[in-house]
Amino acid sequence: MQKLNYFSSIKYFAKLNNPNSMSEIYLNNSVYFGQNAFDQLNHVIENDVFSSVVVLMDTNTKFHCLPILKHKLSTDFKTICIDPGEGFKNIHTCLFIWEQLSKTGADRNALLISLGGGVVTDIGGFAASCFKRGIAFVHLPTTLLGMVDAAIGGKNGVDLNTLKNQIGIIRRPHMIGIDSQFLKTLPKQQIVSGYAEMIKHGLIHSDSYFDSCISTDELKGEYIEHLITESVSIKLNIVEEDINEKGLRKALNYGHTLGHAIESFRMSFDKSRQLLHGEAIAIGLVLETFISHRLFKFPKYRLDQLKTYIHNQYSFHRFDKSEQLHIIDLMKHDKKNTKGNINFVLLKNIGNPLLNCKVENDLIHEAFDYYQDR
Ligand code: NAD
Repeated sequence: MQKLNYFSSIKYFAKLNNPNSMSEIYLNNSVYFGQNAFDQLNHVIENDVFSSVVVLMDTNTKFHCLPILKHKLSTDFKTICIDPGEGFKNIHTCLFIWEQLSKTGADRNALLISLGGGVVTDIGGFAASCFKRGIAFVHLPTTLLGMVDAAIGGKNGVDLNTLKNQIGIIRRPHMIGIDSQFLKTLPKQQIVSGYAEMIKHGLIHSDSYFDSCISTDELKGEYIEHLITESVSIKLNIVEEDINEKGLRKALNYGHTLGHAIESFRMSFDKSRQLLHGEAIAIGLVLETFISHRLFKFPKYRLDQLKTYIHNQYSFHRFDKSEQLHIIDLMKHDKKNTKGNINFVLLKNIGNPLLNCKVENDLIHEAFDYYQDR
């Protein structure tokens, strides 16, 4: 087990010109908010030597978000549209994107803008990183999960059958633009899913941010915009310290060892029983916080607060013993594993993560019992 105590030493480089308005906010050189995002994008396109601009989207963001982008961008661009959803985050869709890029005449100086949720930005960043050995790309996330997590940190990739994010590359986008107006058309279930990553940021970062996250069930408006900015800042601070995930970046995987395995397990079920990424992570957070409580005395009242919030906001899912065993088996594919060992991130307290922890199967079953006891 590796102990971390890093947040005190991390530079907080968020610059909030006006904490009440997203349009005035920017964070370091590469993440821009609100109208600043589009101004900067236009600036980048005008001042860099891109031979062409191509926008990648899925059928939903084509309908809901492309009209907004068209209105904001001061340049002509070509488009590539893919089918929506995790089921299309694979190498076959990449092939389609590469063929379409080729058809549009994109060369090594082309710019690919990904307009969509985590699926579009993950696959867009990966496709751009491989095309002609790497063209520039920009992320314009349109889901809450994309804004606070998937678009931040340079991880791009695709799934291998039902195994998540097995093929990929770490490469930073040219810039990231975050505008909460895209969230207006996002279904509530998707908002709630993205919110799980913000709760995770609270758990690994600070009592105050965790309290802010669990003290609201109104997941829209200015309050949520403020929480988004803070979440982006928390993730940025971590990844800028450890882009290649050698140490402290692993803390961002809190809740994901079991969460990813649960998501993968349900991917083989029919659509009605599949879980959104954040829905699976929400369960993973409760399970791994229970384990943290049992192994490292994580405070019980915080654990109970978390479970209550997750039960109130998220749909409930039951897993019988054989399903739990299947989920445990799937954790063998977790990318944090070393020498065949499953490495968990656990918490000693809020803001105090511990890396590379080992957990017995019996304790995982107990954690499921705790989550399932309502
Ligand atoms: P998603 O991209 O599938 O988007 C969810 C749904 O919302 C899709 O149907 C999409 O078409 C639709 N949509 C998107 N924007 C919309 C809008 N503004 N209005 C209406 N509909 C809209 O899913 P997601 O939750 O954004 O992302 C999940 C993916 O992100 C997973 O593949 C996960 O592995 C990945 N991820 C990556 C990282 C990373 O560091 N790269 C981190 C976390 C998650």
